[in-house]
Amino acid sequence: MSDSRPTKRQRNEAASITRSAIWYKDGSVVLQAQDTQFRVHWSVLAKHSVFFKDLESLPQPNPADLPTVDGCPVVEIQDAVEDVEHLLTALYDPSFLTQTTLPLATVGALIRLGRKYYFKVLLDPTVARITFENPTTYDSCDALLVDGVYRPTRIMVSGGFFFDLLMLAQENNILSALPTAYYRAAKRGPARLLDGVKREDGTVASLPLVHLRRCIVGRDRLLSKQFQPGYTLGWLRQWQLSDCKNSSECDRRRSAMLSHYLDGNVVGALDKFEAHDVRKAFCATCCQHFLDSNATGLKKMWEELPGIFDLAPWDQLKNDL
Ligand SMILES: [Zn+2]
Repeated sequence: MSDSRPTKRQRNEAASITRSAIWYKDGSVVLQAQDTQFRVHWSVLAKHSVFFKDLESLPQPNPADLPTVDGCPVVEIQDAVEDVEHLLTALYDPSFLTQTTLPLATVGALIRLGRKYYFKVLLDPTVARITFENPTTYDSCDALLVDGVYRPTRIMVSGGFFFDLLMLAQENNILSALPTAYYRAAKRGPARLLDGVKREDGTVASLPLVHLRRCIVGRDRLLSKQFQPGYTLGWLRQWQLSDCKNSSECDRRRSAMLSHYLDGNVVGALDKFEAHDVRKAFCATCCQHFLDSNATGLKKMWEELPGIFDLAPWDQLKNDL
């Protein structure tokens, strides 16, 4: 069978090869991913990548046996063309990683290939974007909210963002990011979890069964736990303040808030209520009780968040890159 297969050189000639815009005329090596070639400098690859540096110390094949393009050896790599484009762009453009916000596709490419080829200079700051958006302390997580809603600033939101980010962290052992990543995915609700969410390119972001199960089971646990005494929304069900200044109005407001969560099956386990909003709705006594209970419950919920998704406790969720 193997005798009938075309040689590498023949395949290169037969296939329709695309030359990438990343084509340095003085480059010394041509990387080929799928049907696309990139002409770059071996010295640049070796300077920033342990993998390429180590390759130099291995016995080199006879150059006559290697396919060449414009006199440069062609090295085939088994990676997506888009990922290689992102990697090489970041490697050659010092300003690339200084951008405040990067698309998730770029972040994913730099993490996947940064790990595979040990480009530490690209990997570390990119992983930092994930851990910034998915912190391990409640206060850092709270700081990411704008008017009570999470707004990413280091990674651009796109269709399927929460599912894709969860899988990126999962597949690359960024374990500390998982509790918040599962939480945000689980908040999407059963229909989106089961149907997936469309990306801009028309493909659908969805979760493999094991992670889908964690989200659905975790969501169920959150919906139950968030109303228990001592948790984030427990005060909505336990409200008996003898010194309430306006019991009928405060109770009416409390019921309305409880209905919002119950009727809509809304996960609010990490919902923080702002003092200025609460003061408008409740008497001073209830307001203080409300804010204190919410703050205490949030911290308790945060500590238990990893366990909700069957993860190890926070202090054991070490990133393994
Ligand atoms: Zn009151």
